[in-house]
Amino acid sequence: MTSTFVGMPAFPTAARAALADTQLRHNLAHATGTIRDKRARVVAEVEDWEDLRTAGAAIKDRTLHDLASYLLQLEESLTRAGATVHWARDAAEANAVVAKVAKAHGVDEVVKVKSMATQEIGLNEALAEVGIAAWETDLAELIVQLGDDLPSHILVPAIHRNRAEIRQIFRERMAGAGRPAPDDLTDDPAELAGAARLHLREKFLRARVAVSGANFAVAETGTLVVVESEGNGRMCLTLPEVLVSVVGIEKVVPTWQDLDVFLRLLPRSSTGERMNPYTSTWTGVTPGDGPQEVHVVLLDNGRTRALADEVGRQALRCIRCSACLNVCPVYERVGGHAYGSVYPGPIGAILNPLLKGVGHDPQVDSLPYASTLCGACGDICPVAIDIPGILVHLRAKVVDAHRADRPPKPEGLAMRAASWGLADAVRLGAGERVSGLVGRLARGRGMPGGRRALSWLPWPGSRWTQARDLPLPPTESFRSWWRRVGRDEEPR
Ligand code: SF4
Repeated sequence: MTSTFVGMPAFPTAARAALADTQLRHNLAHATGTIRDKRARVVAEVEDWEDLRTAGAAIKDRTLHDLASYLLQLEESLTRAGATVHWARDAAEANAVVAKVAKAHGVDEVVKVKSMATQEIGLNEALAEVGIAAWETDLAELIVQLGDDLPSHILVPAIHRNRAEIRQIFRERMAGAGRPAPDDLTDDPAELAGAARLHLREKFLRARVAVSGANFAVAETGTLVVVESEGNGRMCLTLPEVLVSVVGIEKVVPTWQDLDVFLRLLPRSSTGERMNPYTSTWTGVTPGDGPQEVHVVLLDNGRTRALADEVGRQALRCIRCSACLNVCPVYERVGGHAYGSVYPGPIGAILNPLLKGVGHDPQVDSLPYASTLCGACGDICPVAIDIPGILVHLRAKVVDAHRADRPPKPEGLAMRAASWGLADAVRLGAGERVSGLVGRLARGRGMPGGRRALSWLPWPGSRWTQARDLPLPPTESFRSWWRRVGRDEEPR
C-alpha cells in the first residue's frame, strides 16, 4: 500500500484530467466551502488578527535571518534534555536515520502521526524497502493509505473522498492491514470513525517505535510541539518506547513566547477552531513517562536552497494551515493531486520549486503557472506570505532557466523579435505601419475592434485568443498621428 507522486505529469495535463472528475469537484467545493466559512467566523472574533499576522511574519523572518544559531541552540537544548539529534541534508539521509533506529530495536512496523515532512521524503516507501511497515494513524491519512491513494490537501488529505467511498475502502482494505471493518459498516461518520478507532487501537498498543513530525520546535528549551484533532498524535507520542521526530529546519521558533503567537494563528486558520483539541509538547526524555529514547532528525532537503532565494525565502514562514488552499479558485476545481506533490495548492506552487529548484523538471516548472494570481492566498495567509509575488518571481526564474533551450519556444522567439523591433526607432516605425495595415485589413473584412475576446488571429494564433483578450491593432499609431496632426486632434 504505497503510492508516490514520482512521475506525475506537469500541472496542465494533470489539471485537465482532474477537471473531468465531477465527483472530485463536488467533494472539493463542499469541503473547502465549509472550512472557509468556519475559518471566517472564528477569525472575525479576534480583534487584533492583523497584528497577530504581522507578529507571526516578523518572528519567522527574525528566526530565518539567524537560522543557523537558533538551530544550534535547539540542538543543544534537545541534547541536554536527553534527545539524540541527527542532521539530514536530504531525504535519503533522513530516511536512513529512521530506518536505522527502527532496525536497532528489531521492529517490523512503526506508527506515525501525520507529518508533511515524512511524506515529503517518502519515508513510508523507504521503510517498506527495508521490511518495515509504517502505519498512518491520522484518520484521513489512514483512508489515503488503505486506498493506495495520494494525499490531496495539507490538512484534510482525503478531502477528495466522500463517505460512501471511505466506507468502501474500509470494507475492502482494512482486513489486509489489521483489524477488519465491521460487516455491517455504514457510511455514517460516527461508524466510520469508530471502525478506524478500533483498527488503530491495536496498532497503538502494539507499536514499540513511533514516528512524528513537529509543527514547531522551541529553541530555548528543545521542546517539540504537535497540534492535532484526533488524539492519535497523543497516542503516538506517549505510548511507544522509542520516538523519532522528523522536523524541517524551518520549524524552529526561538521562545515559548513566540510559540504563543502561532498557537493562536494556526487553529483558527486551519480547522477554524479557537484552539486545537490536542496540543502535545515534549522535551527530550522524561524518566518513567513516555518514550525513553527520543531521536530528532533536523531536515534540510532543499530548505537552505529556498532560504538563499531573497524573494522566495518568506515561503519558509509557512505554518501549513492550508487556508491558502481553501480560498484558491484553481485548487477548488482541480484538487491536490494535480500539483504532483504532498504540498498542493498555492503554497505547493511556490514551495516545491523553491525546495527543488527550477529548470530541470517540467512538472516543477509548471507549478508557478498554476494560479490566476487573484491574490486570495496572500490575503488570507496567517503569516502574510506574498504568494502571488513569489509566483511571479518564480515564473521569471523558470523563463530564465529555459532561455538557452534548443529549439526555442514560440513565446521566446516572439519576445526576441519584440525586443529587436522595439530597440530601434526605424524598426519600431516599420512595425507600427505593418500593425496599422493589419488593423485596416481586419476591419475591412468586418472584424470587430474593442477589447474583447477575439478570435481574429489565423490558426494557431486563434487558439491563443480563445481564452484571452486581444484587441485589433489600431489603424494608426500614436506616433504617426502625432507627426501628422499634432496634439489638437483625437487619433482615429
Ligand atoms: S502559505 Fe500561508 S495560508 Fe498557505 S498553508 Fe502556509 S501559512 Fe497557511
